[in-house]
Amino acid sequence: MRDPAVRSLTESYGHDPVVDATRVVLARLRQEIMSGLLNEDALELALSGLAGAVENGLRQALGYSLRSVINATGVILHTNLGRAPLSDAAIEHIRETVASYSNLEFDLAAGARGKRDVHVDRLFQRLLNADMDSAELRSAGRAGVPAPTQTATIVVNNNAAAVLLALNTLAEGGEVVVSRGELVEIGGSFRIPDVMAKSGAILREVGTTNRTRTADYEAAVTERTRLLLRVHRSNFEITGFTERAPTVELVALARKRGVPLMEDLGSGALFDLRSVGIGGEPGVLDSLRSGVDIVTYSGDKLLGGPQAGLISGGSELIARLRSNSLFRALRVDKLVYAALEATLLAYIRRDHDAIPTLRMMRLSKEAIGERAEALAARVAGPKLKVEIVDGESILGGGAAPSSVLPTRLLALSCEDLSADELAARLRSSEPPIIARVEEGRVLLDLRTVFPEQGAAVERALAALGQNR
Ligand SMILES: *Cc1c(COP(=O)(O)O)cnc(C)c1O
Repeated sequence: MRDPAVRSLTESYGHDPVVDATRVVLARLRQEIMSGLLNEDALELALSGLAGAVENGLRQALGYSLRSVINATGVILHTNLGRAPLSDAAIEHIRETVASYSNLEFDLAAGARGKRDVHVDRLFQRLLNADMDSAELRSAGRAGVPAPTQTATIVVNNNAAAVLLALNTLAEGGEVVVSRGELVEIGGSFRIPDVMAKSGAILREVGTTNRTRTADYEAAVTERTRLLLRVHRSNFEITGFTERAPTVELVALARKRGVPLMEDLGSGALFDLRSVGIGGEPGVLDSLRSGVDIVTYSGDKLLGGPQAGLISGGSELIARLRSNSLFRALRVDKLVYAALEATLLAYIRRDHDAIPTLRMMRLSKEAIGERAEALAARVAGPKLKVEIVDGESILGGGAAPSSVLPTRLLALSCEDLSADELAARLRSSEPPIIARVEEGRVLLDLRTVFPEQGAAVERALAALGQNR
């Protein structure tokens, strides 16, 4: 501790952590000496590097574990890499509202307690009611279930929580009718039958794995039925001899029998995916417009906002969910409201490029190819072979499992490293770069690499090209 190099570390890390880190380093060195691993030269070297070893230990122990990485996989909503990156506006809005106090639950006009939902519910109303004519909504009235007067939206921690809250509120103690082809597992132990059991509702499965007709639902509806549930097949497809009840028929059945119809959309896009060449993925508006009473979707999938579970539907149903005490347990904090508000405002302004995930989806193969060519020209070296090849980016995050976006990839191979070793090298760069390994090659897709991260990728690749 009297060694000036070690002592100077106490200025940044504090006395006690430096003592601890020094003890760890010395214990390791003693161990190495006792096991006879070190000759005299190696021992000299280790002793001269003590302060450096202590500093490394401190940096690892006291540095952040959660850190920024470069996603070069081309999977836009990569669940392991934090799904949707937030927009600049969202970050700025978080910074300005959470660094001090805010009106999170305070009605400034009345000077009294307010509700945290209001900040985003008003924006969802604009986005979801805009195209809904009120006559259409009035005609939706039916026995037993009040007509949705307005669409309301509440926010919980994630979509799993949204499904749990909806099932518990609407169907606890009663039956929920679901197709056997939609009893999905999303990953991370979200399984429809398990969530159903936790909610206190009873699963009433109908149809078969590959074919479920409206008549199957109809035959299962009894006085015990509380809800018809449709679940998006987010991460798989059933092809071949298949049949699925059309949403319009389920809506008609729900109306006839006076039970609500819920759809767990998972992704829940708020913009038209057909504009980027992806069809067959129902958006939130499609679902509500076709008469589905309540939809659940994630904030950080196709919506491109913070992690959240969003529940939109008729205001009467939503009010019931809101008054469930589970809602209080599942609610989100001010950071999420701030990020969500900023993200939704970008949709209202139709400024889709402000939302990183949408901007990435809209990038053309040609634009990505040009960036890839330019990078390849700068980094190819004696050790590193770089080719530009056609490939596919995917949406990820449980959206349109079979839809891909055409892209151009950098295919890397390194003289004296296997593809897995090369990928590991990239992961150990600063910041870490995450790539795909396919058919013995490392593939980088610049679709998901932010322009400002280009220089870091270039540095890492150039280092691989020159060194061994
Ligand atoms: C992703 C998904 C969920 C879970 O959403 P989280 O926001 O990850 O909790 C539930 N249902 C479906 C259909 C999904 O795609």
